[in-house]
Amino acid sequence: QAKDAGRNAIRFFSPEMQAAIDSRSEMETTMRNGLLHNEFQLFYQPQIDIDGEIIGAEALLRWFPRDQESVLPIQFIPVAEEVGLIIPLGLWVMETACAQLKAWENDPRTRHLKIAVNVSARQLRQLEFVKQVQDALEFSGANPSLLKLELTESVLLEDVDDIVERMQQIKLFGVTFSLDDFGTGFSSLSYLKRLPLDQVKIDQSFVRDIHTDPNDAAIVRAIIAMSHSLGLKVIAEGVETKSQLNFLKNYGCAHFQGYLFGKPMPIEEFEKLLKRI
Ligand code: C2E
Ligand code: MG
Ligand code: MG
Ligand code: MG
Repeated sequence: QAKDAGRNAIRFFSPEMQAAIDSRSEMETTMRNGLLHNEFQLFYQPQIDIDGEIIGAEALLRWFPRDQESVLPIQFIPVAEEVGLIIPLGLWVMETACAQLKAWENDPRTRHLKIAVNVSARQLRQLEFVKQVQDALEFSGANPSLLKLELTESVLLEDVDDIVERMQQIKLFGVTFSLDDFGTGFSSLSYLKRLPLDQVKIDQSFVRDIHTDPNDAAIVRAIIAMSHSLGLKVIAEGVETKSQLNFLKNYGCAHFQGYLFGKPMPIEEFEKLLKRI
């Protein structure tokens, strides 16, 4: 009993906080094991051009833990970022995507396809990141110009000069950059000019309400116009309906991604989709 009292006396966290910490470190352990036991998979979601052709895919991470329900990226990515596991996990994603690019190289129906890979700010902040990308490309033999890296505005929270320099080094390989979830972050527009980007990705929240919220419609039009005047390409994410697509096309957006064209799917399904179109 005295022992119990003593333990209570040094408890810093409320039961709720302790539970959150416990479940996070439990998730960390199961994630670490999951990486060792091939429980992660890449799903591919088509990216489409103005003619309706599939020009590539975004690789989206999926986790199917053994003996457990699958866990969504919004649940496990933030934990992986916090505990640093995003580094080995992100490396696995990059290597898997590059191997896929290489595997597509010999088929004229797939050799032109690009893969977009999501990169966390934490990955980009490592000194070794440039070397990791280079190694993944060299080891796989993938064509660097088919690899696109998607960043979010959270990369801008610190060390912008370092980030810009790292991006420039990676661009020398031929890799391109897209700014994901554009319009939802903290960045000022001047950063858009500073980052060596190739593409801006309009966040799905603006696309969703394009027809019901005049402000979102105005934001979408402004993002497209501004990006084009800065020499950047634009892709819209979360395109679910024909009328959203038409709106986007009318205002000059030429690349699209969303359930209208296909959900993220296993590689076998993605390849079947290519044959159908
Ligand atoms: P994101 O990069 O913005 O990816 C787009 C998300 O929107 C994906 O969710 C996708 O399934 C979903 N989506 C696509 N089209 C539609 C649509 O038409 N309607 C709606 N409602 N949703 C759509 P997902 O796969 O759950 O991924 C969530 C987030 O997790 C991603 O957002 C990305 O930030 C992160 N993530 C996923 N895979 C990776 C990864 O390999 N590395 C890192 N660092 N982050 C990842
Ligand atoms: Mg993305
Ligand atoms: Mg996004
Ligand atoms: Mg998003």
